[in-house]
Amino acid sequence: MIQTKYVFVTGGVTSSLGKGIIAASLAKLLQERGFKVTIQKLDPYINIDPGTLNPYEHGECYVTDDGAETDLDLGHYERFLNTPTSQANNVTTGRIYQSVIDKERRGDFLGKTVQVIPHITDEIKHRIQLLGNTGKFDIVLTEIGGTVGDIESLPYVEAVRQLQWEMGSENAIVIHLTLIPYLATTGELKTKPTQHSVKMLMQSGVSPNILVCRSEHPLSDDIKRKLALFCNVHEDEVIEALDAETIYDVPNLMLKEGLDIVVIKKLKLPLSDTPKLLKWNDFLTKFKNPKSTVTIALVGKYVELHDAYKSISEALIHAGATNEVRVVIKWIHSEKLTPKNVTKKLEGVHGVIVAPGFGERGIEGKIEAIRYVRENNIPFFGICLGMQMAVIEFARHILGLKDANSTEMNTATKFPVIDLMESQKNITQMGGTMRLGAWDCKLDKTSKAYKIYKSELILERHRHRYEFNDAFLKAFNDAGMKTTGINPKTGLVEIIELPNHPWFIGVQYHPEYKSTVLNPHPLFVAFVKASLDYK
Ligand code: GLN
Repeated sequence: MIQTKYVFVTGGVTSSLGKGIIAASLAKLLQERGFKVTIQKLDPYINIDPGTLNPYEHGECYVTDDGAETDLDLGHYERFLNTPTSQANNVTTGRIYQSVIDKERRGDFLGKTVQVIPHITDEIKHRIQLLGNTGKFDIVLTEIGGTVGDIESLPYVEAVRQLQWEMGSENAIVIHLTLIPYLATTGELKTKPTQHSVKMLMQSGVSPNILVCRSEHPLSDDIKRKLALFCNVHEDEVIEALDAETIYDVPNLMLKEGLDIVVIKKLKLPLSDTPKLLKWNDFLTKFKNPKSTVTIALVGKYVELHDAYKSISEALIHAGATNEVRVVIKWIHSEKLTPKNVTKKLEGVHGVIVAPGFGERGIEGKIEAIRYVRENNIPFFGICLGMQMAVIEFARHILGLKDANSTEMNTATKFPVIDLMESQKNITQMGGTMRLGAWDCKLDKTSKAYKIYKSELILERHRHRYEFNDAFLKAFNDAGMKTTGINPKTGLVEIIELPNHPWFIGVQYHPEYKSTVLNPHPLFVAFVKASLDYK
């Protein structure tokens, strides 16, 4: 069996330096060089997973095929690598402690005192090696969330120290991502914060093998020499990571800096020809040279934090490039949309997405936006809650079912057109209990969806509790809202369409999770095309 190699990515100086993008870019280059790669994220918080976190706290919750509710960085991993991730790719401190405590309750530790070292660190090491032990990957990249020096990151750094010691430094290396701040008053780049952060890492027994330095300005040879000297690395192991115009430039920037070569040498792996990134660069060329622009409104209740809709905005970038147009997103707060201002707010917009979400806040604004686009033949794309709102809008204004609603918003509604699935009714535990992960959907061959997917059976990812209520199936179809995608096993409605509208599609699932640079999602591509046609 091959020896899987491990690359750890830690962060220093400050958070939000883009460890996820650096990890994904490096992984992309290694993949282009012929290695089988995956990326994992270890998050130091106590939640079992980000599924229960408010999007304002943590941005979007990304869902994998196998139904894991994960950190949004996993979305970047999939978008860059074009390969699926799974439960094993995201682990939190909560999850680690949960398994250790479960073992303790089962008596697995045979009376021993259960401690951070070795029991928690053993569990962390086990989780890190799970992906490697599948035999599917040559290289596993593990991003350690948080910043070195945080109390909560300590057990992870300790686990990395132990693993590197056990495996040898040709099988496990550490990349430390830091910030080189620029002092405008003196016109200088400063290395001190990086020196301190590396010292902190060394106090935990870990010496970084490579430094990746985020900077607004190029690092001079002098600066690189200084960093090398103070931080126990060679000059060629100091990699400059300049601010990029788009995250999709970063693989090329890292290629230019030779990050992949340094990693391959350190891991004593064979060096192949330089990656050409042909398809990737083809995407970039189209993305950077749009022939025109379309404006898409994204109606949601978390729009103050764009990260809450990360996969949707990235899917629009992929679809824009495919259509050779620049997609400008007009962020519209659903709470601020009213029948009075809807015309004004949606002025100049060529297509409208109504976003996923939970709870009552802002839903009347979403319904108003949908009424407007339905009546004015503006392309509409409803995702999850957005689809449910389209069903409610149609019920209220076409079927004449006054106050129709989802029982999520009004348990007493006379017309529960969206309702809780039977299997959801007795659930009291919140985490991981929705309809999650990939589900089959069979398309009606006469539908627009079928024309777009060019396939009768599709597999898409879900994350919701409520469903289209079957009791109203006939009424909707008779009145012109067609249910064109159905789960073949359960009969649940997955897609609704208005065939007499230029482009009106609502999906109960989340197509955005599956859009990648090399595989833009067909629904987003078609929606952007329709918006362009509308324009
Ligand atoms: N709140 C809705 C449900 O649970 C929709 C969820 C979503 O948009 N992801 O069914």
